[in-house]
Amino acid sequence: MKKKIIILGAGISGIYLGYKLKKAGFSIQILEANNRIGGRVYTKKVNDTKVELGATWLWRYNEALLKVCKELNISLFEQNMNGDALFESASNNLPQRFKVPKNQEISYRIVGGTATILDELIKDFTEDEIQLNEKVLKIDDTKTGIKVSTEKSAFIADVVVSTIPPQLLVNSVLFTSELDTKLIQIANNTHTWMKDSIKFAIVYKTPFWKEQGLSGVGYSNVGPFTEMYDHSNFENNRFALMGFLNGALSNESKENREKKIQEQLFKFFGKDGLNYLSYEEKVWNKEGFLNFENNNFINPHFNNGHSVYQKEFLKGKFIIAGSETSTSYGGYMEGAIYRGNEVTAQLQNKFL
Ligand SMILES: Cc1cc2nc3c(=O)[nH]c(=O)nc-3n(C[C@H](O)[C@H](O)[C@H](O)COP(=O)(O)OP(=O)(O)OC[C@H]3O[C@@H](n4cnc5c(N)ncnc54)[C@H](O)[C@@H]3O)c2cc1C
Repeated sequence: MKKKIIILGAGISGIYLGYKLKKAGFSIQILEANNRIGGRVYTKKVNDTKVELGATWLWRYNEALLKVCKELNISLFEQNMNGDALFESASNNLPQRFKVPKNQEISYRIVGGTATILDELIKDFTEDEIQLNEKVLKIDDTKTGIKVSTEKSAFIADVVVSTIPPQLLVNSVLFTSELDTKLIQIANNTHTWMKDSIKFAIVYKTPFWKEQGLSGVGYSNVGPFTEMYDHSNFENNRFALMGFLNGALSNESKENREKKIQEQLFKFFGKDGLNYLSYEEKVWNKEGFLNFENNNFINPHFNNGHSVYQKEFLKGKFIIAGSETSTSYGGYMEGAIYRGNEVTAQLQNKFL
């Protein structure tokens, strides 16, 4: 009999773990609360243009992630930085042109969008192996295994691996057997990367900024956008600008944010900036499957990869994974893959 592993969450951590554990010979099932896979990887298709409203870049030092891309035949391309950048220092000044220094670390994007990694990883999954709209509510340590209850059903496994960000896990899932108090304390003080960010993307018919000798890079001390980049595709036939908005705008309406961006776009690019096909955004602190109401300030990456996450819980039947538990590049996609490899090795050593 194959050992059954239930994975909580179908972000890049959960999907990668499912892929690795299935290949290693385990029976797997992934339970995802949302109606889509991906979690903080969110490539949205707007007509024929794909825009990244979640993770976008990887870097040459992301060794584990690059290895996975190679294994899946996924190609990368350099973030376009050719041309001048614009910087808005104060509200009463026009943005100034400047040249970005050449010796910057190169950021890479995935040809076809970041979600291509997930699409490749799930290729051999059966319908039963990945279940959407299954929000996990309760974990019971039973005599024979471990039971996971969702709003609609109950599932039994030999081991459960959670990839729910730790702070959300201990505040949204009920454990009928007491969890380690140290784990609860650390999880409550573990930062979830980018949970307060607002990402936006604006789709255009033509890359007018390139025609003006601009790279599409824009920085602003004023806002609403604080940084912005060219987001045209690898084939260079779909065009967009993409960036981050000031997080303080999260409680305003989408219409208000868009209106404010229009004023800033006009300041940066004149009329061309307003001639867009579509405005897209994602306010991550309104995403209930990432965040919960909580006023604690936690420093970025605080407690990521803490030693408590490397332990097993509920007599070896419960393991905590996910990017924030990784000792290497916690919070990033690289961390998700690195930790996935560790947990796979741990389960292989134990059962196979
Ligand atoms: C705007 C933004 C930009 C980013 N940019 C980059 C970048 O450029 N490069 C980079 O490397 N990283 C970036 N990141 C970080 C990267 O996205 C994350 O490191 C990575 O996606 C985390 O994957 P994960 O699977 O560990 O967690 P998540 O993606 O958060 O997945 C957790 C999953 O658990 C599900 N879930 C939650 N609660 C439950 C429940 N009760 N029951 C069942 N399922 C549940 C969620 O719906 C989610 O699908 C960015 C993140 C954001 C938000």
